[in-house]
Amino acid sequence: MSTATSRSVAGREPAVVPLWIGGQRVEPCTERSSEVTNPATGAVIRRVPLCGSVDVDRAVAAAGAAFPAWRNTPPLRRARILTRFRELMEAHRDELARLITEEHGKTLADAAGSVQRGLEVIEFASGAPHLLKGEHAQDVGRGVDCHSLLQPLGVCVGITPFNFPAMVPLWMFPVAIACGNTFVLKPSEKVPSASLRMAELFKEAGLPDGVFNVIHGDKEAVDGLLAHPDVRAVSFVGSTPVARYVYETAARHGKRVQALGGAKNHAVVLPDADLDFAADALVGAAYGSAGERCMAISAVVAVGDAGDALVERIAERARSLKVGPGTEPGVEMGPLVSRAHRDRVKRYVDQGEAEGAKLVVDGRNLRVPGHENGFFLGPTLFDHVTPAMSIYKDEIFGPVLVVVRARSFDEAVELVNRNPYGNGTAIFTRSGAAARRFQSEIEVGMVGINVPIPVPMAFFSFGGWKQSLFGDLHVHGMEGVYFYTRTKVVTTRWSESDLPGKNLSMPTLG
Ligand code: NAD
Repeated sequence: MSTATSRSVAGREPAVVPLWIGGQRVEPCTERSSEVTNPATGAVIRRVPLCGSVDVDRAVAAAGAAFPAWRNTPPLRRARILTRFRELMEAHRDELARLITEEHGKTLADAAGSVQRGLEVIEFASGAPHLLKGEHAQDVGRGVDCHSLLQPLGVCVGITPFNFPAMVPLWMFPVAIACGNTFVLKPSEKVPSASLRMAELFKEAGLPDGVFNVIHGDKEAVDGLLAHPDVRAVSFVGSTPVARYVYETAARHGKRVQALGGAKNHAVVLPDADLDFAADALVGAAYGSAGERCMAISAVVAVGDAGDALVERIAERARSLKVGPGTEPGVEMGPLVSRAHRDRVKRYVDQGEAEGAKLVVDGRNLRVPGHENGFFLGPTLFDHVTPAMSIYKDEIFGPVLVVVRARSFDEAVELVNRNPYGNGTAIFTRSGAAARRFQSEIEVGMVGINVPIPVPMAFFSFGGWKQSLFGDLHVHGMEGVYFYTRTKVVTTRWSESDLPGKNLSMPTLG
């Protein structure tokens, strides 16, 4: 079996995760590296190289060399390779899920679900011949026709976060490659292995060498990619401060950029909602993947009488969640990604208590027998949180749900709209009129009506508003196609003897 990462034998130095350049695994040209840990045990399982400019140059050069042939490959042939890739990804879904769980910590079922959502983007991108058709108009003037071409950009780059090791890269590279571009992926250094395995499967599907490349690293590798003269476009997903930095830096270097940032997703619960249904949905949305989802619900706005009954229902469910290693059957919530992150989230809980919020469920003292060194934190619930508190203002990115009370629908909408983030939101209600007003007035990119995590399907586009997105175009769907192509408009006339002679005034064609 070909594995992306050769496991280290106990007691020996952990294996180093290789790069993928020009269709093969290659050793890095850097001495810098960092640890990859298994969050359920705290053990160092691999080392990941932190690439510098030499490796950046090698990867961009390989992608640049592959571009001319790939852009001239008919979209139908590209699509067939994507279809084979999708089949291989499906056949290897459980293997990928195991790699994700091992490095990220989420449960196997959750990891497999995220691979499935990524597969759907490959499915969408397999429609390349249709997606790249452009427009045509006959007789825009006498004897004149006009059509548009969607042409690839060249070498595109993806920089991705730790929380979806396969799905977020899959938001980007299948669409970019289907459009005729070549790609360099720099996954999160915390979860490097799934990307490498996907590169191997893509090659097995028939992808020519150099079309898809993977390098590893931190800020140094990212800075090298953002400034590289041969990179045309940068897709980024991660935290808001880094998204802003990537957007500004890449734009300054003349690149096209889409940079998706952090989130503080609110769910508004109206008093007429089915509170049991809402509580079930909110517990999944807040604590699934230990709250490390960009579309996690981290703030509930309980309107009027909904408050006490809702908090009681969420608390009951949160207390009964089974927390443990993601590989164990029956476990509903795994550990956080790293010790440092777990400690940071814990500090937020301390701070929330000190700031006077009511701590209804406290996850700080959770013990997982046999996994004392794992990065666990139990589900935590705060009530009577105010917008001035740090647990409300900051993206915590952990299993901490805060409940804010609002007197009315209008007050709830105003609170959501005042928040600097605008990734996702949801409303729980039985009122069609309230839901209709909500979808119209809310300043957030992705909205759920009685749907807690409204992640659009691959044939729509995914992206937030405000500080959750820097740039204009969202990922996948048609916006993804437009991001990875530039439009050329061709106006055509074939000479005929009865057409007019020279004319120096502004052409109107009619
Ligand atoms: P992060 O911003 O720390 O890292 C993201 C990527 O940027 C990684 O590849 C990392 O190596 C690189 N990076 C980190 N610091 C950098 C720096 N100073 N300069 C240049 N590059 C740098 O994010 P993370 O902790 O890996 O992921 C969690 C964050 O991602 C959360 O804020 C979450 O909301 C966000 N996220 C957003 C979406 C979305 O769709 N909007 C989706 C997933 C995750």
